[in-house]
Amino acid sequence: MSVLDLARPEIRTLQPYSSARMEAGGGQIMLNANESAWQPVGDMGLGCNRYPDPQPAALVQALAQLYGVKHEQLWVGRGSDEAIDLLVRAFCRAGADAILIQPPTFGMYAVSARIQNAAVIEVPLKADFSVDAQALLAAVTPAVKLIFLCTPNNPSGRSIPRADIEHLAAQLAGRALVVVDEAYVEFSDQPSVANLIDRYENLAVLRTLSKAWALAGARIGSLLAHPDVIALIRRIMPPYPLPLPCVAAALAELAPAGQATARENVAIVREQRAIMRSALTRIPGVREVMPSDANFLAVRFDDAGTVYQRLLQAGIVVRDIRRYRQLEDALRITMGTPEENARVLTVLSEARA
Ligand code: PMP
Repeated sequence: MSVLDLARPEIRTLQPYSSARMEAGGGQIMLNANESAWQPVGDMGLGCNRYPDPQPAALVQALAQLYGVKHEQLWVGRGSDEAIDLLVRAFCRAGADAILIQPPTFGMYAVSARIQNAAVIEVPLKADFSVDAQALLAAVTPAVKLIFLCTPNNPSGRSIPRADIEHLAAQLAGRALVVVDEAYVEFSDQPSVANLIDRYENLAVLRTLSKAWALAGARIGSLLAHPDVIALIRRIMPPYPLPLPCVAAALAELAPAGQATARENVAIVREQRAIMRSALTRIPGVREVMPSDANFLAVRFDDAGTVYQRLLQAGIVVRDIRRYRQLEDALRITMGTPEENARVLTVLSEARA
């Protein structure tokens, strides 16, 4: 049994699009892709008149090193959003298969599944926002091909213990692909489970440069998985997902100076998270500030709607998460600069006067 047996049979046999860049690169005179021979105005040496490498070797190498995996275990695309979408399309037959999620959680798993006409099976998190492993395993039918585990979870901020992830991967071997979304793992004390993909071929990990790496605008996300899964995703990816300026921005951030800055900023966020958590707890009208391993805090208020409006009037936009199960009284506040966070506290303190 291979993890590929879980994938859609028609995808496994699909003849992928063969782009000009895949067929041949490295010539002196490139006349095979109907590109312009002239660089555009303001190109600054990027060479944007040429199609980019579908999987730029330098970026794949830098990300594989960052995440501690082999290059054949990594696919890089336009944010983890694109990896989620491609996984759903590769593994779920429309009208037949399903994904499993644990609400309240990140919305794109269900959206991607619905676009594909795959069913969405929900196993809610427990009242303390931990995963109900027993209920989850009981809910896995043969139709379930993908199980999304979000750790730290958006919007609750809570992490899933590594032992629980291993337990689920072991229990679901040959039955489903466990996809661990680690978008916020850099802000957590708990290390990534990326090194478990060598041990469990049905385990995949999503990482992103959108959060700790300050590159949400460049749209760079990675899928770490068994080489067969990576090869399958490469078969169905769009021909040239990564624009050259975005690749250049990512490489700059992953160079030593960029890494040093990113790590400093992560340290500031972690410090601010602790400061904000205790300060918010003391503000009247705040019911609870949930512990968080991410770069945000989910905060329960007596009247979240009014607090949201007051912040908005002060020019501060937070996320209204009242539509999420178990969070009907909560707002999600991303950690900004220390000055921005102080302003949030000022507005909330004034509000009670
Ligand atoms: N996973 C989680 C848990 C997220 O919160 C987000 C973004 N909000 C994403 C994935 C998508 O990130 P990306 O920018 O890499 O597409």
